[in-house]
Amino acid sequence: MARKKTLRDVHLSGQPTLVRVDFNVPLEDGKITDETRIQGALPTIQALLDAGCPVTLCSHLGRPKGKPDPQFSLKPVAERLAEALDAPVTMAPDCIGDEVAQMRSDLGAGEVLLLENTRFHAGEEANDADFARALAGNAELFVDDAFGSMHRAHASTVGVTEFIGACVAGMLVGKELDALAKCRAASGDGFIVILGGAKVEEKINAITQMLPRVEKLIIGGAMAWAFFKVMGREVGASLCKDSSVEAAAQIMKKMDDELLARMMLPLDVHMKQVKPDTGETKFADAAAIEPGWNALDIGPKTRDEYGRIIRDEAEIVFWNGPMGYFEEAPFDEGTLAVARALADTKAFTVVGGGDSVAAVTQICYEDDMSHISTGGGASLEYVQGDTLPGVEALDEA
Ligand code: ADP
Ligand code: MG
Repeated sequence: MARKKTLRDVHLSGQPTLVRVDFNVPLEDGKITDETRIQGALPTIQALLDAGCPVTLCSHLGRPKGKPDPQFSLKPVAERLAEALDAPVTMAPDCIGDEVAQMRSDLGAGEVLLLENTRFHAGEEANDADFARALAGNAELFVDDAFGSMHRAHASTVGVTEFIGACVAGMLVGKELDALAKCRAASGDGFIVILGGAKVEEKINAITQMLPRVEKLIIGGAMAWAFFKVMGREVGASLCKDSSVEAAAQIMKKMDDELLARMMLPLDVHMKQVKPDTGETKFADAAAIEPGWNALDIGPKTRDEYGRIIRDEAEIVFWNGPMGYFEEAPFDEGTLAVARALADTKAFTVVGGGDSVAAVTQICYEDDMSHISTGGGASLEYVQGDTLPGVEALDEA
């Protein structure tokens, strides 16, 4: 695929600019509990301000279902952003409409306007052309810096590009594409992919598209139990949805033995007795999960084996999804062991996916990873070889 233009390829001359940022921050009682995404957006915004561009920012926040809902307002972000930029940030009452259009044409060089949540309009997710035209407004340059939304063809990621002359990737997206391109192009010996989480059905394409390319595909999390079930093993009271079992069965039927041999399943588990609810915990071999027991994590043999592969065999590692129920100790041990192995290995390491990133930051290993992606679903889709509509829509370099 041809390289896409980034902000560096553009001659900035004070043109009115629309930036799609990822301000989908976690909020509790109207307070921002993690401002990583605001910090991440600063380099692109600052570069545009330094070049004298009037900067209009747009983002979604949460899932407001296509109509205004005050709990998903971006207002708290405008306040925090103004502090971080040490410059005024004007909050618009909406993302489209006459009043907003006026505010945008009044915006001066080096001034910032934050539009209200794009998902307050159904046209955003429907990628409605009229909505996209209004959102594009007076912009002469569109900068997409919201990687986590680029796998969705929405008005703010794809639709607006029909109405804006120049469309490029921002600094964050540029970094994402550089790092993820290495995983996207990787194949053969030394390419190790680790997939975890609960739902095989969400990762079925990733598994089938990745198996022919990897040396090993390491599976963890509750989705491993779906494969166990297909293999006729007891899974006790473990999380194992029918839809996941169906997806796992489909994969095992479709792939030949040589490819299936590349898939590593847990050798042992860490489980808890829930029926009767004694709360007792113990390790067991993968084939020895008992009725009434809930397998919540991989066991120590698996931790060692997965860790060894990551440390000794890997040249490029891509990791998406936790190895177990990591929100509750001691069932975070499998996930933390994988994070530690990634921190230790000399391989090029990329972590994508909200839960795996949370595990890495929890133990302060961010600096030991080659790249931490800002997009879970988007990074997985890109690495498995799919095209992302938001990337496709940008200008070629
Ligand atoms: P992701 O968000 O990384 O794509 P999923 O949404 O499919 O992954 O699953 C993540 C969730 O699955 C986490 O909340 C994690 O605690 C849970 N989980 C993983 N393994 C287990 C398990 N063995 N038992 C119960 N929950 C699990
Ligand atoms: Mg999830």
